[in-house]
Order: sequence, then structure tokens, then C-alpha cells
Amino acid sequence: MTRTKTSDSRTQKIGVLKTKLEEKEAKLKKTQKSLKKLQEQKDEFISMAAHELRAPMTAIKGYISMILQGDAGKISEKARGYLVDAGAISDRIIRLINNMLNVSRIEEGRAIYRVKRVSLSEVAKEAFNHSKLEAERKGLGFNFVVQPNIEDSVFVDPERIREVVDNLISNAIKYTNQGSVTIKIGKADKDKIRLEVIDTGPGVSEKEQKKLFRKFYRVKITVGKTIGTGLGLYICKLLIERFNGVIGLESELGKGSNFWIELPLEKEGGS
Ligand code: ADP
Repeated sequence: MTRTKTSDSRTQKIGVLKTKLEEKEAKLKKTQKSLKKLQEQKDEFISMAAHELRAPMTAIKGYISMILQGDAGKISEKARGYLVDAGAISDRIIRLINNMLNVSRIEEGRAIYRVKRVSLSEVAKEAFNHSKLEAERKGLGFNFVVQPNIEDSVFVDPERIREVVDNLISNAIKYTNQGSVTIKIGKADKDKIRLEVIDTGPGVSEKEQKKLFRKFYRVKITVGKTIGTGLGLYICKLLIERFNGVIGLESELGKGSNFWIELPLEKEGGS
């Protein structure tokens, strides 16, 4: 009789606990659902805002290029200088907007890649030419060095790799106030090609180097002084790894930086 009573009360207790647990579970599910909804609304808002900003920014960049190319007649050297600066700033804003639009697509594997065999030197040379005026305007030496007779075919989406190289070059120019920026292409080992963007800028301490490729990470002293979100290097890393490559940095505070990527070489006859 006593035993039955005890087991009854135990069953009752278990029943109460089970109900409580179920209630908690339901509450948790509800919270998760509303968090997911908030996340979706945030993504939607960022995406909408970025889209709305991209079109006018691209138009502004287009007009600047037209004036620089002489479509509006002759302009003074001073005006040309200002326009080059304005063009570089609009390039940065467009890159920043693209990064905001692309990050979740890349993270979640929703990005579409048009992968083909391309010459890394050609992609890098285009990026180099694109940034020439900006580097000149800042008074920096700007060099492009390719190891002679090098095999340089890689199997990648050229637009994405261009984005990576643009990001690295743009950072090098942005953070370097004196000296030079050099883009160097050479063999890493028999199966890999290496591209380096070397600058004589402020460099990055060993402690910060470990955090640099994290999402939204920016070195404290640069925040507020330069346009940026801390997404650039994070996206570069995601993209380079997507193409089976590696990205890294060699740097010493006060002695400049060498941001490098290595990609597997695509052999003759490869797909
Ligand atoms: P952003 O430039 O938008 O801040 P990035 O992800 O491209 O974001 O870079 C992250 C941080 O790394 C920058 O905020 C800057 O502090 C540092 N950094 C990047 N490139 C360089 C460089 N060439 N020299 C010195 N610091 C750099």
C-alpha cells in the first residue's frame, strides 16, 4: 500500500516535470522562431539597403570615369586629381556594398560560381591597372612583378578572384601613406602559384594577425579613420578556400605587410 502511494507520487512528480519541460521546449521553439524571423528581416533590410545604394553609386562612378576620359571636355589637373580620389572612394563604397550583399550567400553556399581556367597574372594585371591612378595620386610607388615564363593557370571564378585581388590591393593602398605597394606573382611550389600584395604601410602586430580574417574584425587604430566594415578579408578567405587555396599574411608592426594567396595550378589538359 505505502509502496503504491510512493510510486504514485513519483509518477505525479514526473508528470509535472514533463509538462514543465514541454512548456519550456515550446517557449524555446517560439523564441527560436522569432529570432530566425528577426535574422531574416535584418538580412532582408541589409540586402534592400545595399541594392538601393549600389545603383546610384555605380552611376556616380560611371560619371566620374566619363569626365576623366574627357567626355565632358578638358579639365584642369587639379580637378582630375579630385576626380581620381572621388572615383577611388566610390570604388570602395561599391566594394563594401558588394561585400555586404555577398557575405551571407557565400557563407551559406548560395553563391553561384562560374569556374573556368584563367591566367592569374592576367586577372591581377587588370586589378593593378584599375588601381594605378589611386596609388599614383597617393604618391606611392606601384609595381607589378611576374616571375618570367611562369605557368599561371588556375581553375577559379575569375570575377571572384578579381574581387579578392582588388580587396588586397585596395587595402594596401588605403593603409599605406608612404612608400610603395608591389604585386608579385611567382611559383609557391611545383603545384601552386602565389600572389603577394606587399606594402610599406603600418603593418599588423602578431596578436592582431590571428584575428584579421575574422568576420567584422578591424584593427582598432584604423576604425573611424578609413572606410571599412571588416568584411573584406573574411570574404577573401572564404573565396580562396572555396577554390582550394590558402590566404595568409606576413607582417611586422611598423614594417609593412605582405598579404598572400596560394592557389593550385591547373595543369595543361585539366578541366
Ligand atoms: P576593412 O578594410 O573594411 O576594415 P578588411 O577585412 O579588408 O576590412 O581588413 C580588416 C582589417 O585589417 C582592417 O580594418 C585593417 O585594420 C587591417 N588591414 C587590412 N589590410 C591591411 C594592410 N595592408 N595594412 C595594415 N592593416 C591592414
